Amino acid sequence: MTVITRFAPSPTGMLHIGGARTALFNALLARRHGGKFLLRIEDTDKARSTPEATAAILDAMDWLGLHPDEPPVYQSARIDRHIACANAMVESGRAFRCYATNADLQARRDAGEAKRAAAKQDGLSNEQRLALQSEAEALLAPYRSEWRDGAPPPAPGAPYTVRLRAPDNTPILLEDKVQGKITLQAHEIDDLILLRTDGTPTYMLAVVVDDHDMGITMVLRGDDHLRNTFRQIPIYQAMDWALPEFAHIPLIHGSDGSKLSKRHGALSTLAYRDMGYLPEGLAAYLLRLGWSHGDQEIFTLDEAAELFGVDGINKAPARLDLDKLNDINGHFIRAADDDRLLGLVLPFIAQRTPIDDPILVNRLRRALPSLKDRGNTLPELATAAQFLWDANADNLTKNARKALKGEKLDLLGKLRAPLDAADDWTIEAMQDLLDSFCAEHALTIGQVGPPLRAAVSGGLPAPDLAPVLAWLGRDEVLSRIDIHLPGSSPAER
Ligand code: GLU
Repeated sequence: MTVITRFAPSPTGMLHIGGARTALFNALLARRHGGKFLLRIEDTDKARSTPEATAAILDAMDWLGLHPDEPPVYQSARIDRHIACANAMVESGRAFRCYATNADLQARRDAGEAKRAAAKQDGLSNEQRLALQSEAEALLAPYRSEWRDGAPPPAPGAPYTVRLRAPDNTPILLEDKVQGKITLQAHEIDDLILLRTDGTPTYMLAVVVDDHDMGITMVLRGDDHLRNTFRQIPIYQAMDWALPEFAHIPLIHGSDGSKLSKRHGALSTLAYRDMGYLPEGLAAYLLRLGWSHGDQEIFTLDEAAELFGVDGINKAPARLDLDKLNDINGHFIRAADDDRLLGLVLPFIAQRTPIDDPILVNRLRRALPSLKDRGNTLPELATAAQFLWDANADNLTKNARKALKGEKLDLLGKLRAPLDAADDWTIEAMQDLLDSFCAEHALTIGQVGPPLRAAVSGGLPAPDLAPVLAWLGRDEVLSRIDIHLPGSSPAER
């Protein structure tokens, strides 16, 4: 049997990272079995669904590399089919027209509450109390419609809902691939509404019809849908359809174990793109958040697609851990192709400083392969590279200021001449130049380094001097040195 999975977001906002993880698991499961991963946009709630939200979800999935195998199915386009299925259930007697109004149902709940209150008053015999309690329970129990046995409409043309005749006696059994076997007593389930009084299908009906028609073999979704599954199973049964398999994954929690909310960090998938995470970094992190394979921490999607299975999904909720995300992302930054990384980091640099000068871009291109391990996110890389275009001369750090005083500044003055004379600005040549300068003047790099570093980086973080000099190049290095040498502006020499 071909494995067909789906991701079924409601387009009412951004793609939540929990949703992204659900999509990822579904995509991997399908790939693992050579099956299909489908996308269904559940846009029947017209008041809350927006095309912008749909676009944002597609954009986020695309960014993460989660490409459905077929064009998305729009639930709203399938309403006629949902209605036809509800009508078929009415025909077969598995569903019925219910003329109870909201006011009727409210009156029933109110009566139930009144009985419950009455059972608590003083001066009742035990029998009276028990009788009132059981009347209250019957009224407040999941709704079993008085119309299910074919009572006639209260008036010709009276509005009705279509309700499923809920199973009365057989317990509903779910063999969940993550949660294990769970049973719910049938009397806990309503005669649930399939079509509202305006004739529109309910979410519960639409999900089942669509999952069936799309040939879904495994419904893998957040465990916030676990209760819904018990309401959906009777719909499959009423249609005489085979059940798909179900797997309900525990939700993501915040670092403190409570329900994930804004204060734990960003919730939107694309916010992580905007914060400078790589898609493969976030995907690898989300994968480990709730799934494990031995003690391996880092997977590419290709690797995961070889290994993923529901048996590796954890039963306990996972906690969002941004430090771990940073570590994993750092791994993927170091593994990233240099040209791609350049394209990714430039916008983060551009947020701070104009960097359209090709000289600056080239400097960055040369330096980036070495700077890669100096940041776990793209903004951190941008910070690590800042010295390339910023001499920080107006804003020297305290240490840099100290390194540019007195004898140290004299050393910098001496070093200027061999730098000026050097033709070869490779990393090796710069290293040789520094070594021979030290040897010639009986100095150590510990003496020569600080003023030179202070001048060329202005105290900004920077790696070893030889590469820094080579990346900046002769003109830039000399002009950065000259800012600090007294009376040494080129015109005066
Ligand atoms: N549309 C539902 C949601 O966004 C998911 C439905 C499902 O996966 O069955 O929560």
